[in-house]
Amino acid sequence: MTDRLYHTDTALLRFDATVRAVEAGGRQVVLDRTAFYPTSGGQPHDTGTLGGVRVVDVTENDDETVVHHLEAPLAARPGDAVAGAVDAARRHDHRQQHSGQHLISALAEDRFGWRTVSMHIGADGCTVDLEVAALGDEGLATLEAQVNEAVAAALPVSVSFEDAAVASGLRKPSARGGTLRIVTIAGVDRNACGGTHVAHTAQIGLVRLLRTEAVRGGTRVAYLCGDRALRQARQAQAWLQQAARQLSAAPHEVPELVARQGERLQAQERELARLRETLAAHEARQWHAEATPGADGVRRVVRHVEGAVKGHEALARAAAALSGCALLLLSPGTGGVLLAASADSGVDAGAALKGALTALGGRGGGTPRLAQGALAAGTPLAPVEGALRAALGFGGA
Ligand SMILES: [Zn+2]
Repeated sequence: MTDRLYHTDTALLRFDATVRAVEAGGRQVVLDRTAFYPTSGGQPHDTGTLGGVRVVDVTENDDETVVHHLEAPLAARPGDAVAGAVDAARRHDHRQQHSGQHLISALAEDRFGWRTVSMHIGADGCTVDLEVAALGDEGLATLEAQVNEAVAAALPVSVSFEDAAVASGLRKPSARGGTLRIVTIAGVDRNACGGTHVAHTAQIGLVRLLRTEAVRGGTRVAYLCGDRALRQARQAQAWLQQAARQLSAAPHEVPELVARQGERLQAQERELARLRETLAAHEARQWHAEATPGADGVRRVVRHVEGAVKGHEALARAAAALSGCALLLLSPGTGGVLLAASADSGVDAGAALKGALTALGGRGGGTPRLAQGALAAGTPLAPVEGALRAALGFGGA
């Protein structure tokens, strides 16, 4: 069992200890005592240095020893003295996020009856899962305001060690026996917790409840505290200013302008689709007029197109709508093939294309009027184009 210095002094960053065990070629070190917090209870581990070597991970074993995982081997043997230094910025951040979570959980339960199911402090965000089916914007704003009031009140946060059998008034009954480490926020919360906390709530700084998400019948609240909340607010403001500049508008005008532009874009896309149909019909009629009918009276047109043949469906539909007409589109770049045939052409586009492509190792199909397919992936079109045309009756085109 490692003596955990952070249990009684969460501001302690530098400490001296004695090496108890060295494993993994010097990359895993156990000490008699440590200020490093191991990943546990929803709070990530500290980082820093041990004997000048970077500590990249801190874990705890079932026997309650703390293992320091190092970036490079530490030249030390059991019994040696070693100096540790905990990364101040990361510890400061975790104290703010974790104490903020206690405050959110306590007030959510006391004032609204929303119990906390779980919590998570991560590099890209922090969350509290509450037992409430839905939490509207108003509920979130009310809870946020009350949490920030408790922050401004600078309530003392203290740690005590109490016997589990007699400890009372805990927010969540502890499953552990023996001595409990209890973190108390004066007048607000008593909770069994091993985490590193601030000395008074004002040190948590600004608390932002950012958004909610439905999770297993409850609600996950994303939150940020202190320096992280400030950085996030600054970033969000910068994004909004950038969007406003691009729209030549004031920030408060951005949501309505974006909605209006979205509507305009949709209308323009509808108009564009209509114009494409008109153009396609025109183009199909022109090909039809220029093509010479075959012996069976069917006008057959072959065209090479760029990109996916699917992008030329409007043209194919227009061709199929004309009389005595069959249109074959080939995309050399993608190996895509499209066949369209008008109802009186006697050509079954789906059956013909399926047969021709299958014989060449590709696949395709569709309706008698419109069919699409492709050669097997990686097959160049040029060597098989003649065979494909012949199979589809476009041999002489
Ligand atoms: Zn806690």
